[in-house]
Amino acid sequence: MTGTDDFIELSERRSAHNYHPLPVVIHEARGAWVVDVEGRRFLDCLSGYSSLNFGHGNPKIIAAAQEQLSRLTLTSRAFFHDQFATFAAGLGDLTGKDMVLPMNTGAEAVETAIKVARKWGYEVKGVAADQANIIVMEDNFHGRTTTIVGFSTDPDARGGFGPYTPGFRIVKYGSVEAIREAVDANTVAVLLEPIQGEAGVLVPPDGYLTQVRELCTAENILMIADEIQSGLGRTGETFACDHEGVVPDIYVLGKALGGGVVPVSAITANEDVLGVIRPGQHGSTFGGNPLACAVANAVIELLGTGEYQSRARKLGEVMHERLRGLIGHGVITVRGRGLWAGVDIDPSLASGREVSKALMAHGVLAKDTHGSTIRLAPPIVVSEEDLLWAVDQLGAVLAEL
Ligand code: PLP
Repeated sequence: MTGTDDFIELSERRSAHNYHPLPVVIHEARGAWVVDVEGRRFLDCLSGYSSLNFGHGNPKIIAAAQEQLSRLTLTSRAFFHDQFATFAAGLGDLTGKDMVLPMNTGAEAVETAIKVARKWGYEVKGVAADQANIIVMEDNFHGRTTTIVGFSTDPDARGGFGPYTPGFRIVKYGSVEAIREAVDANTVAVLLEPIQGEAGVLVPPDGYLTQVRELCTAENILMIADEIQSGLGRTGETFACDHEGVVPDIYVLGKALGGGVVPVSAITANEDVLGVIRPGQHGSTFGGNPLACAVANAVIELLGTGEYQSRARKLGEVMHERLRGLIGHGVITVRGRGLWAGVDIDPSLASGREVSKALMAHGVLAKDTHGSTIRLAPPIVVSEEDLLWAVDQLGAVLAEL
């Protein structure tokens, strides 16, 4: 089996159709570029949904993984291992929090935050048993577990998977008034993405996060920021909340924390919050394993230099300026922050998928989110020249429509 069609045919026949990939079969990658089984090169403008912020095959991350692979990969949390303490302290320091709780996937970390918030509500806030509610946002994306899809407003994500977990109130994103109206004495948390990624890179109005923070503090409610896609350098700061100087009570992290090598997720919070979890109440066999911690430790070190954050900021300005030049030439709006953009294509010209396929033919891999929106999130290691070339390819695709 060597050809693209063979790989796709077998994959489609023997796997669930829970994704609709572009017809490309990737074989290897380095930095911001991938190569397919036919030897064609593409600039990666998706970065594994922002999991590859530090680039494919980042030498420091790969070296850490290789060293760890050859020594110790798994202990389970039944024992300590020598990468764990550094991970816990390092990620705690990066987020300015006392404690961490590691898991593997993003959805697991969100579930963890939900469990912790409920337990905090009962044990610390004094909410009556089983009465806790959590306020979530319209158009959210927090993962695919049964509890999480239950409070999704996307019919594809939610439909057909009931009955749903109770205890969630959905309000309009970007409106602090909507949150205020939904709050009652049993509200234990507000869960939000500081920028909604899957919804199309939706940036809330200036001051929104600050107002949410103030409201949560005033009402004794935990502010939970799902920074799984927005965090770890992507927006030009370590966290998207940093743009407003806002510190949530719980950070939810994933994706790039695993350096594009292994799934690593975590929540971080102070002891008064995360201290509510005791032995036997939560966990994961693979969460916080030695390989995951070694990789995450390399990621934390890279972020500690600040280089990736400032690079995302600078390249982001360049990318957004070039993208804005396409408005009126097939592009309706451009949103985003740092090296992250949601580009709304005129739906009368083409769907997002059609544009993604055409971009692929031009050597750029990007993916549509909803309808006619294309998300651009190249690895932060991308060169300015390659980045501008990619935007120009979008211009060329639109000119051909
Ligand atoms: N939260 C956000 C904001 C995400 O963007 C995602 C994935 O796209 C998730 C949670 C779920 O992460 P995972 O796919 O690793 O479960």
